Amino acid sequence: MNYASEQRSTNSEQFIKMLAFQVGFDACGISKTDYLQDQVVHLNHWLDSGYHGEMGYMERNTEKRLDPRVLVQNAKSVISVLLNYYPGNPDISTKPPKISRYALSLDYHVVVKDKLYQLLGLIRKEFGNVEGRAFVDSAPVLEKSWAVRAGLGWIGKNSLLINPSLGSYVFIGELIVDLEIETNTTQTPNRCGTCTRCIDACPTGAIVSPSVIDSRKCISYLTIEKKTPLTEEEQNSLNGWCFGCDICQEVCPWNGKAINTNCDDLLPKQEILNLVPSELKSISNEKFDTVFSDTPLSRAEYKRIILNSNDHK
Ligand code: SF4
Ligand code: SF4
Repeated sequence: MNYASEQRSTNSEQFIKMLAFQVGFDACGISKTDYLQDQVVHLNHWLDSGYHGEMGYMERNTEKRLDPRVLVQNAKSVISVLLNYYPGNPDISTKPPKISRYALSLDYHVVVKDKLYQLLGLIRKEFGNVEGRAFVDSAPVLEKSWAVRAGLGWIGKNSLLINPSLGSYVFIGELIVDLEIETNTTQTPNRCGTCTRCIDACPTGAIVSPSVIDSRKCISYLTIEKKTPLTEEEQNSLNGWCFGCDICQEVCPWNGKAINTNCDDLLPKQEILNLVPSELKSISNEKFDTVFSDTPLSRAEYKRIILNSNDHK
């Protein structure tokens, strides 16, 4: 038995967490697959209220969303990971027209998924033929709920996962695997307390009650997800943002000590940092492609970015 084998037989949970750190994740937690009964009422209320706006895909695959065993055959465990992406306060995220911090680097779907498959490779090396799938904000998985179950934090009143050490500038990913892993997880209590900073700071009143977002009012949804043209009122509500919105994270005290990412692939692209924010208003189609084609901004249409960048309140 090699050192690694000894370690994993002592505690598979700790061993897999160690592997997660080895591939560069900042936190890892594990939970057993289960039906997310505690999310049924919340999800249905959110959908019934129409808070998902034009994101019709949220209405579909509800069973997969609530039960990963429907999504991945023989799934036994959900390995949740966090990757800190905090890039500090570059001008492009603080001066209109602003770009959300998570979008300044290579597309996180690619970066996180690549690390998840590296992790799965290491797990297979030690545990044999483990079957599983990696997910990053791309399939019907209630990622935040799994992260909470895995002891990685709590859902703040801004509806984001807050990790007590990392804050909320984190990407969440999961490996859903057919490996039984004994877990000894303690869930993190909600530490929002009496704070209401995010609710008070949201310029559009999109946080309609603690942890409940009416996407139709959320700047992030309006600038990225909404497919039909913005109304004049919506256009005027963007508060200087042209892609995403970080306000309810900027004001959160749990982000007060956020440290910059250690992941080179998530460092802001120099081509983006070199842009003077106001340049976005008149950036050419060609330059937009050169600068943003491998970033999350490629999800938005060039035309939409130009429109969002133009003067508004
Ligand atoms: S992202 Fe912006 S608009 Fe959306 S809830 Fe947070 S502060 Fe409000
Ligand atoms: S700003 Fe306050 S209420 Fe909002 S998520 Fe952070 S700690 Fe919770």
